[in-house]
Amino acid sequence: MPEHDYSRIFNFSAGPAVLPLPVLERIRDEIVTLPGVGMSILEISHRSKTFEAIIESAEARMRSLLGIPANYHVLFLQGGASLQFSMVPMNFLPKTAAADYILTGAWSEKAAAEARKVGTVNVPASTKSENFSRIPEQHELELDNKAAYAHYTSNNTIFGTEWKAEPEVGQVPLVCDASSDFLSRPVDISKHAVIYAGAQKNVGPSGVTIVIVRDDMLKRIPDNLPTMLDYRTHTKEKSLYNTPPTFGIYVIELVLEHLQSLGGLSAIQKHNEEKGALLYDFIDASGYYRGTAEKNSRSLMNVCFRLPSEDLESKFIKEATAASLDGLKGHRSVGGVRASIYNAFPKEGVVALIDFMSEFQKKNG
Ligand SMILES: *Cc1c(COP(=O)(O)O)cnc(C)c1O
Repeated sequence: MPEHDYSRIFNFSAGPAVLPLPVLERIRDEIVTLPGVGMSILEISHRSKTFEAIIESAEARMRSLLGIPANYHVLFLQGGASLQFSMVPMNFLPKTAAADYILTGAWSEKAAAEARKVGTVNVPASTKSENFSRIPEQHELELDNKAAYAHYTSNNTIFGTEWKAEPEVGQVPLVCDASSDFLSRPVDISKHAVIYAGAQKNVGPSGVTIVIVRDDMLKRIPDNLPTMLDYRTHTKEKSLYNTPPTFGIYVIELVLEHLQSLGGLSAIQKHNEEKGALLYDFIDASGYYRGTAEKNSRSLMNVCFRLPSEDLESKFIKEATAASLDGLKGHRSVGGVRASIYNAFPKEGVVALIDFMSEFQKKNG
């Protein structure tokens, strides 16, 4: 029988995605018994002192990393960002009111579609006719100053674009789907009413959704919502109304501790900018690969590019996979190549990809 191969490869998956190696090693070391507890994290009650300490620490670390003001709640929910597409309008969009949804990709379209089931949706701007290759400029936004809220997607995972600063929406509550760039850079929480993110892109395993919600928003919630879909249930019970995803929250706590040990979000941002610059500069200089996003909208998390033909793209992805560069296929709706290089993706992996791209171009250019 051959030995199992435990060596790691470079994982460019868009999500669930790469996690920090020190965190994985810590999980491995603690999986049979948490230090001093005598039981696995997989076995303990969510009402135990041990788990309470874990979820409290996760919240405290999140607050510290993002500078979350005291008038915001931090929740660890389930159902993914996709359930937030429904919960946000169910809680904050009265039937008779309208919400603004800025459309910058497939995820914001999905969010808007759920809101339309609840109330009226207006679209201040959409870059769909340009195949979502850019983020709209502030002056293009036709905002409604009476909107119940304005929703945007800070990083467009499929199209590889990212807002460089949040849209200015005046007094209207700003809601952000930050699923794919959460904790990749500092964010001004106070400009937002709600921020939500599925954990599996940048923060932890799938199964946990982080929601940050400003306290005054809770007053807007109607009284007839199903208990589990009402944010007040979860703010009141501190995410422990029912059994939360305990393992996922434990992993998130470890990831947050790791981010703090690296120097916090400014340090992480610098690291991400270095990785992004390496790859984009190489693409731009190659005369062979072509970035699909406009330069000033480029995402530091998901780098999307094309080759001269679809046949070459298939060949590229096949040979890259064989060379232990995994998960590079672009989303089925756009094709091409997508290199997701989240926080935990190492710079050596970007260098390995560039070496591979350079060789591929020599052989096929
Ligand atoms: C992945 C993703 C989603 C969907 O997340 P789920 O947790 O699978 O529901 C939503 N929005 C963005 C920006 C994403 O990247």
